Amino acid sequence: MKRSIASSSKGNVYKRSRPDIEHDFEQYHSVNKKYYPNPITRKGANQFNNMSRAKPIEILEELLRKHKTSLQDASTVIHWFRNDLRSSDNVGFYKSVKLFQQLKQRDASAKLYAIYIINEDDWRAHMDSGWKLKFIIEALKSLQESLAELHVPLLVWEFHTLEGALSNSKKFVEFFIEKCISLSSGKPMIISANIEYQTDELYRDIRLLEQEDQRLQLNFYHDSCIVAPGLLTTDKGTRYSVFTPWYKKWVLYLSRHRKSGSEICQLHKIEPLKYNESFKLEPFQYSLPEEFVQYIPKLKWCLPDVSEAAALSRLKDFLKTKSFKYNNEKDTLCLGGTSNLSVYITTGVISTRVVVNEASHTCNGQIMSKTLKDNSSIQNFIKEVAWRDFYRHCMCNWPYTSMGIPYRLDTLDIKWENDPVTFERWCIGNTGIPIVDAIMRKLLYTGYINNRSRMITASFLSKNLLIDWRWGERWFMKHLIDGDPSSNTGGWGFCSSTGIDAQPYFRVFNMDIQTKKYDPKMIFINEWVPELRHSENQRPINYPEPLVDLKHSRERALEVYKDAM
Ligand SMILES: Cc1cc2nc3c(=O)[nH]c(=O)nc-3n(C[C@H](O)[C@H](O)[C@H](O)COP(=O)(O)OP(=O)(O)OC[C@H]3O[C@@H](n4cnc5c(N)ncnc54)[C@H](O)[C@@H]3O)c2cc1C
Repeated sequence: MKRSIASSSKGNVYKRSRPDIEHDFEQYHSVNKKYYPNPITRKGANQFNNMSRAKPIEILEELLRKHKTSLQDASTVIHWFRNDLRSSDNVGFYKSVKLFQQLKQRDASAKLYAIYIINEDDWRAHMDSGWKLKFIIEALKSLQESLAELHVPLLVWEFHTLEGALSNSKKFVEFFIEKCISLSSGKPMIISANIEYQTDELYRDIRLLEQEDQRLQLNFYHDSCIVAPGLLTTDKGTRYSVFTPWYKKWVLYLSRHRKSGSEICQLHKIEPLKYNESFKLEPFQYSLPEEFVQYIPKLKWCLPDVSEAAALSRLKDFLKTKSFKYNNEKDTLCLGGTSNLSVYITTGVISTRVVVNEASHTCNGQIMSKTLKDNSSIQNFIKEVAWRDFYRHCMCNWPYTSMGIPYRLDTLDIKWENDPVTFERWCIGNTGIPIVDAIMRKLLYTGYINNRSRMITASFLSKNLLIDWRWGERWFMKHLIDGDPSSNTGGWGFCSSTGIDAQPYFRVFNMDIQTKKYDPKMIFINEWVPELRHSENQRPINYPEPLVDLKHSRERALEVYKDAM
């Protein structure tokens, strides 16, 4: 059902914070049946747990082990960019360049290409936000320019089908083979790409590895994590499901693999050469269809500078001016005390190896203190980056968490209230709880909210409102500029007590205390809920009564959760 956000509010005072946008709220209630007609069940999830069904990452790695790259007869190397939109410190691209240089010694006419494939159905199925897609398109243009300096053409292909197929479909594989073969003029080629850890994407790569055309030799690399999923196990060889011991191992792994005198993370530098002899830059023409940008307010919105250089300069600026205050300021809602790097990291414009290396310079390479609780600001910043790795490790180990099923299967029994009107009021920031409304309006208006804001609103939705956390998770994906399936699912699982290493179910944020701690002077609330600005202690007539009583809704959540767990 489509509703206009402005028309559902009283009066026009909300205009600053709530753009007049039509929303189809029902799309957040369940998985998209068009793309997922047979969603995975608890039984299917259990098959992964009791190992009667292989995890996609294991299938992929097994196929890769069997695969041997041969330069024999090959004359083309292709790097397939996905969510790694950068030329520097990119494992797959680095390997492509190295292979190409070897090939070139044998065959002077060898060619090196870069490709990116747009499949709008993947975006629809994954509910990518307009903010993020706009960023990606601009980042691609910037990447095309930086690759041009290396004489490497970046070709952007579009995959469309009438019925709407995902990239793990047979049709996509056929399309891919045909396009690659035409690019290499029918000759054998080597194709490299970096692994994406969501289930759909892993199955896409598995299908590609299983295709039988000998002319395509595919290599997939671990790139997006600092420590690849699967490398860290407990001393008993089991997978970690708690962050802190995993993080300590992560730090240990980095120190053990560090060569003396070198950086914490090894980077992948390519020489700034002109790789292909003949080269012509052909800018790609693609504009996002209206359906993807419909939720972006039509008011002025400036895309941040999307280039790799801009990401690095944002990082350096943060390290110089804010990082030492991170422990104290990261949660304060009006301060912007965090790096704001997430969109660059999510789309791969900067690698987290570079982030950690640069950050480690400011703590003399000591990325964790002896006792965790004494971590300095910069060490805690690095720890947050480690959370991102951890959530990828979890998604690989419990693949059903990227298929709409919570890590904790018992929480499937929670009797959510799932009132659609209550959900809509949460979405548009009209719950009558100022801190929640301010955050939700900021999300709608800007596409970005900090971690504390995400935790507050996720806790409120899943606990005080008793709405299935997956509705909120989808809303976040559709509206966040940095929407990332593993961090988003991980964050929602944490806050709703349904996920891995989650908050205990009886931890329900008290919105009054959160306000006192993180917006004590009401600066943030007054900015985003202007109708409260001059209200003293009285509720203005144009601001709604609270949707729920905080104390009563907390008690109700405890009962409902307890019944299920
Ligand atoms: C409910 C919920 C949903 C979330 N959804 C996403 C999402 O879709 N995409 C996303 O990138 N992050 C998500 N996060 C994690 C976190 O909120 C954001 O990464 C962070 O707010 C981004 O702002 P920043 O770049 O200024 O972070 P900083 O504090 O400067 O941290 C630096 C980087 O570390 C990583 N990071 C920081 N905190 C976390 C965390 N808790 N979990 C995983 N990685 C982290 C991010 O890559 C971030 O850019 C979510 C958290 C919650 C609680």
